[in-house]
Amino acid sequence: MKEGMMMLLPVQFRPFNDEMPLSWMQRMALANGFDDLREMMHIIGIISKPYDYPSSDHWKDVAKMLYDQEWIKSYQDEVKKASLLIDNMITKKIYICPQCLNEELQQYGQFYYHMQHHYIGAHTCWKHHCNLASIDPIDYLIFEKDPHLQPDRGIYDPNKEQQILSLVDDPEMLFEELIRYQIWILMKQTDKNLDDINQPSDIPLNAEYMDRFDDVPELLFDVVKGKHAHIKDEATKTYIFKCLFDDYHSYIHLIDRLKNRKRPAYIDLMDILAMKGSVLYAHQDKRL
Ligand SMILES: [Zn+2]
Repeated sequence: MKEGMMMLLPVQFRPFNDEMPLSWMQRMALANGFDDLREMMHIIGIISKPYDYPSSDHWKDVAKMLYDQEWIKSYQDEVKKASLLIDNMITKKIYICPQCLNEELQQYGQFYYHMQHHYIGAHTCWKHHCNLASIDPIDYLIFEKDPHLQPDRGIYDPNKEQQILSLVDDPEMLFEELIRYQIWILMKQTDKNLDDINQPSDIPLNAEYMDRFDDVPELLFDVVKGKHAHIKDEATKTYIFKCLFDDYHSYIHLIDRLKNRKRPAYIDLMDILAMKGSVLYAHQDKRL
């Protein structure tokens, strides 16, 4: 694009409430006749090679190609706050609520990716209280067809998830609650519960890391029994995440990110968590 030249996309719309930037960009690309997001980004000059992946901030470049600029500031705030709880806004693993999907297909003829479904530690849709399914997008082009949803294994609890993530103003508590929740899930998968843990060796841990045991099972045992374990040491936290989570990277990033935040950031986040239950999911899409 030449400098000073203003290019506008012919088909324009705002993101839905709680929509991931990736999702909105992809819908824009398809609605404007491109094969996929990368083709649009390449042709309008946002990425230099057609196989480059867009970055999490590229939605702002796409937004510049709209007449309507009024929504951008509030969406930017929403994305910024949510990104505290989302490991990667340009994720290649997409989570979808089968019920949201059906509702959106009925209401809008298409569906979109929700930020809440991508929160670290959230395995459920907080609106429908059902398990999320994960899908691998093929060049992000999955909006118009049934992606054959495979619900994730496990018995999850949306109320617990909201409670846990509302603890973001206390990283130590958040850490302990996240691991207690995960141990509870792992026990449920074998039809047991936390009461069936009578000694440290009853805690289900990732076998891959078993040989590196030291005092971790004892620490976790304290957490399971509701005692404050006061695990301050970063290496131990990382090790615990590896023992408990397949996607341990996300959890390490979350704790890492919170460590360097000042309190007001958490309060902001609690505001949006509170909104998720009411305003955002009222399905009155003011941005439409
Ligand atoms: Zn849902």
